[in-house]
Amino acid sequence: MLQSHLFAKTLREAPKDDVSVNAELLIRGGFVDKLVAGVWTYLPLGWRVLENVNNIIREEMNAIGGVELHMPTLQPRDLWETTDRWKVEEAYKLQDRSKRDFCLGWTHEEAVTKIALSHISSYRDLPQYVYQIQTKFRDEPRAKSGVIRGREFLMKDLYSFNASREELDSFYEIAKSAYHKIFERVGLKAYCVEASGGAFTKEYSHEFQVVSEAGEDEIIYCKECAFARNKEIIGDVTQCPNCKKPLATSKSIEVGNIFKLGTKFSEAFGLSFTDEKGEKKPVVMGSYGIGPGRLVGTIVEVSHDDRGIIWPESVAPFRVHILALSASVQEEARKVMFDLEQKGVEVLFDDREGKTPGERFSDADLIGIPWRVVISDKTVKEGKIEVKKRTESDATLMDTASFIKLVC
Ligand code: ATP
Ligand code: MG
Repeated sequence: MLQSHLFAKTLREAPKDDVSVNAELLIRGGFVDKLVAGVWTYLPLGWRVLENVNNIIREEMNAIGGVELHMPTLQPRDLWETTDRWKVEEAYKLQDRSKRDFCLGWTHEEAVTKIALSHISSYRDLPQYVYQIQTKFRDEPRAKSGVIRGREFLMKDLYSFNASREELDSFYEIAKSAYHKIFERVGLKAYCVEASGGAFTKEYSHEFQVVSEAGEDEIIYCKECAFARNKEIIGDVTQCPNCKKPLATSKSIEVGNIFKLGTKFSEAFGLSFTDEKGEKKPVVMGSYGIGPGRLVGTIVEVSHDDRGIIWPESVAPFRVHILALSASVQEEARKVMFDLEQKGVEVLFDDREGKTPGERFSDADLIGIPWRVVISDKTVKEGKIEVKKRTESDATLMDTASFIKLVC
């Protein structure tokens, strides 16, 4: 793709009102634009990253039996009165012209349980696992962490419907490992920590936390084994209960949250099924959330340097960024782009007019595409291209065929 066709430009400075690193780098790199605090546009570059994250999430949800659907944002008041959650302050509320109350969906347990009433009535209809990647609205009091805390944001929410507590328990563990795979694939080290069940349940839920100074949570974790807890529930413990090593405390970002809902929602809505013996029982449910936009922001928080973003290959907007340092080598550069694209490698070609080599280099570092290819009069004369990884400081001269072998 040609950089001149990207719509968004890189910016020298980000607005001063958002102090987070992810907001600054994503705005300056031309990935996102802020309409108002907590309300973001994903520009073409940012949208490609977000879609890569979404697709990884989709693959892992499909792999554990999830099926994708899409539920509405506009939800009537009576739906929320059923569970006594109309009063929740995070909800954006509005009225239609006949003064009927609605809110904008800030989560979908109520909606999905109501929908399931028409589709689940027998043990033969279970288990079911449905998910969506859909826009949620929350009136967040502090929307100052860039895309990590939106007031309008994407969430992947999966809901499980099982016939028994044991089935829920075993699916819950399967979902947990799918979550670990997702975070690993997007390049994040996430600790699974026990947390309180909040409004949902008296049991513990599990949060997935990434260690980062940009976080709003605090975890106590062991650097040797996988032990971790939210500081809220464990207090000041200094020694790991598993391996006896000293524990560390850090700020962290919650990137995912899973809950055993049990029968709280099914009982409120009367969602039951008849078992093999003809006995009527409430459906046992679970709820599993991840914020794809929050993942994008978290990746930037943990993977950048003083020059810009360093995208992991799995989510990068393009794999290769080609810079042509002078007008005279544009044709050679285009040829390299076509050769790579023919092999299925996604390429961004900096064909912008009137930029100095220095501007192209610093924009490439800011945007953070994993491989940089420089084409100049000098490399053309030698029949080579200059290749550098975003994570390394030294460049290597090679011919295009060798580079294709390297990245394919
Ligand atoms: P937090 O404590 O950070 O407000 P939460 O407990 O309200 O999060 P959930 O309701 O469990 O979050 O939502 C599931 C997931 O959705 C979270 O783990 C997070 O990844 C994402 N998420 C929640 N709120 C936001 C938001 N305001 N902006 C972006 N992503 C969000
Ligand atoms: Mg919240």
